[in-house]
Amino acid sequence: MATWGSLYKHGYKPNKFILKKFFNHSVKTKLEWIKEKGICQKITQYAFDQLGAAFDRFFKGNAGYPKFKNKGINDSFTIDASGKPMPMGGTSVKLPTIGWVKTYEGTTTTTTTKLTISRIADEWYIAFAYEVDCVESHSTHEVVGVDVGVKELATLSTGVVFANPKAYKKNIQKLKRLSKAHAQKAKGSSNRHKSKIKLARHHAKVSNIRKDSLHKLTNHLCKNHAVIVIEDLSVSGMMQNHKLAQSIADCGFYEFKRQLEYKCKKYGCTLIVADRWYPSSKICSSCGHKKESLSLSERVYVCDKCGHTLDRDLNAAINLSRRALA
Ligand SMILES: [Zn+2]
Repeated sequence: MATWGSLYKHGYKPNKFILKKFFNHSVKTKLEWIKEKGICQKITQYAFDQLGAAFDRFFKGNAGYPKFKNKGINDSFTIDASGKPMPMGGTSVKLPTIGWVKTYEGTTTTTTTKLTISRIADEWYIAFAYEVDCVESHSTHEVVGVDVGVKELATLSTGVVFANPKAYKKNIQKLKRLSKAHAQKAKGSSNRHKSKIKLARHHAKVSNIRKDSLHKLTNHLCKNHAVIVIEDLSVSGMMQNHKLAQSIADCGFYEFKRQLEYKCKKYGCTLIVADRWYPSSKICSSCGHKKESLSLSERVYVCDKCGHTLDRDLNAAINLSRRALA
């Protein structure tokens, strides 16, 4: 990378082939550890490909000058088996050069041509792409409105409620304790470093629990409904809500939307995102009257005009489902 930078400053347009040649002839022979540890050639190959692509984007004016990758932040590398399909599935995966590794969760039985290994906190992750057939959706209720909450994961206009898993609530409490303890450690101390890792690991655990329950929710939505209406929650971070559970719910919203977008494609559903100013919780789902204000503590919606009484989240979800016709 540094070599590339100096070539560029001297008026050359470097490409990955020149650089790879340079690496193999000059650098590699000096770096004994690369040979000793038997570092897979494929790993450096992908690093060159990615760096080459980054420079291509830069020369075409599509992106800025490539940045140095900091070791320790989002460490990852990509490997393949020279284009041959690699069998995946179960809880063990055979990687080229590295050999058998065990995975925490079972992977889908399929084949892939390349995979990426990454590290978050001190845990290793494996990611790969594979093809799936499109499945027709079987809808009972055509349209569904979804109210995403903090207390419950989601309330649907059909009356179905997806609660937050117990493990999630329990781990949120632990996360609060850990983040408080971390804040009290002296800066630069080894204890602070230790608590940082502990906190990062627990954070990943909590967001994995949430991710998992979001998959159950988005599977249900896409398999049972043709049109899904959700609220745009991407601005709630601006509402000065510093509660931890809320901030995690906010992060979860991006994950929720991401899952919905690709699953809607897979199942052939339509996703409607109601604009952020639509007052779904203030409108009466029976007569359409709009309340001036509604505090967060009011869990039941009582209409001032027609007296309609309904669970607050369900009322909001029904209003959202009607946006499909608007
Ligand atoms: Zn009403």
